[in-house]
Amino acid sequence: MSKNQNKTSAYSFFNCIEKNFDKAARFISIEQGLLDQIKACNAVYRMHFPVKIGKEIKVIEAYRVQHSHHKLPCKGGIRYSMKVNQDEVMTLAALMTYKCAIVDVPFGGAKGGIKIDPQTVSIENIEKITRRYTSELIKKNFIGPGIDVPAPDYGTGEREMSWIFDTFLSLRSGDVDALACVTGKPVSQGGVRGRKEATGLGVFYGIRELCLVKEDMDYVGLDVGLVGKKIIIQGLGNVGYHAATFFHEAGAIIIALAEREGAIYNEKGLNVSKVFLHLKNTGSILNFPEAKNMENTEKALELECDILIPAALENVIHKNNANRIKAKIIGEAANGPITPEADEILEKKGVIIVPDIYLNAGGVTVSYFEWIKNLSHVRYGRMEKKFSENMNAELLQVIETICKKKISVEEKKIISRGPREIDLVRSGLEDTMINGFHKIRDLKKSSKIENMRTAAFVLAINKIIDSYEKLGIFP
Ligand code: NAD
Repeated sequence: MSKNQNKTSAYSFFNCIEKNFDKAARFISIEQGLLDQIKACNAVYRMHFPVKIGKEIKVIEAYRVQHSHHKLPCKGGIRYSMKVNQDEVMTLAALMTYKCAIVDVPFGGAKGGIKIDPQTVSIENIEKITRRYTSELIKKNFIGPGIDVPAPDYGTGEREMSWIFDTFLSLRSGDVDALACVTGKPVSQGGVRGRKEATGLGVFYGIRELCLVKEDMDYVGLDVGLVGKKIIIQGLGNVGYHAATFFHEAGAIIIALAEREGAIYNEKGLNVSKVFLHLKNTGSILNFPEAKNMENTEKALELECDILIPAALENVIHKNNANRIKAKIIGEAANGPITPEADEILEKKGVIIVPDIYLNAGGVTVSYFEWIKNLSHVRYGRMEKKFSENMNAELLQVIETICKKKISVEEKKIISRGPREIDLVRSGLEDTMINGFHKIRDLKKSSKIENMRTAAFVLAINKIIDSYEKLGIFP
């Protein structure tokens, strides 16, 4: 258990997930042995490898955990952080299993982590470490299009995924499906359009769906819809930045943004792209001209708002600050941002928590689309775009003839447009997030489950049980 966890929770991170699992198991009648199998991590690979940094040899600690093999390949991101430890990677791998089940992505859960601080290690050395980590995974058969497919997570992005692919290809040359060994790659390296922003966009779709349900909005005393809702976002990285952008574009008001070095606040709303530009230019969100600075970044979570989106790290809402949280809705964009004790406090306060195992599943959903693209070796829309455009143009011509009315060139352009890859990816993501939300909500209502998190776990566990039963492992 890390020092921080000790301070904020009586549980290790993995215990937190077990506790949530056990709460859900009360609603499932199946033999305990199968539940124990679903809960356990199937394979944990802890490694140490040497890397020459400058004139010194440094020993790097790293992990890959495959939580479940009920469906293959396994899937899950790789995290670079000094806080990486076995308990954390095991927990994040378990979350991936439940997440994939909820959004019908046919993978088992996995996660990886390297204990480094990417902010202090040079790019050259990050590349060396990434390539060495990949070759360790290859040696132990812990990576491959049908085995285990990593993706980005905290501290990693397209650049690292590209290096992983290149290392895999150089050691497995001739593997025609090598592109599918990792997702979250740049588009020029076999990535899919829409992956970078997918997790943030999924968070947006999930919260938007909740805000459209009158019964739920009445429960927390808010109007239906996103327009005008006051939002606070913690973490302006990949997930937080994109979520903030989509909320802002939809007419919500981003009143505060919190980063490591502090938070910024403006009751009237922050222009997210301007803040991001300021961050890029100055290296910090602080001193943004149209906002007030808050030196204690954690205090930003406690400001008056409608929706709070933690999008940085785990355990940020705990027993010591939960009572001071004023948000009516919390959308868990990060993995595990609320400890079990805080969960109970917030539930008593009547806060709606949209759980991580559903809300941040947009990333793995679009990773799944990327994996399919890589295995089929063709860009989405390539075969049907022009065909659809031609069909639509013919249809418009028939309509013009029947109605004896001309449709303008501009209107024709809009109506007859064929689907591009980004359109197909986004519509697949939107549909997945809308369906996932209603499946969880319907189950919560029909089985009288106390909250969305437990309902999401019940949904996931039932799907995994079904899969094990169909496999014939448990006759
Ligand atoms: P990232 O590294 O791109 O961004 C994280 C941001 O949080 C950084 O800007 C960092 O400076 C900030 N941060 C760190 N500590 C902070 C603190 N104490 N207070 C405020 N800000 C802080 O990481 P990411 O990919 O955006 O991941 C964020 C969370 O979302 C993680 O929990 C990750 O597991 C989860 N997640 C990510 C993805 C994905 O596709 N990237 C998918 C699902 C879940």
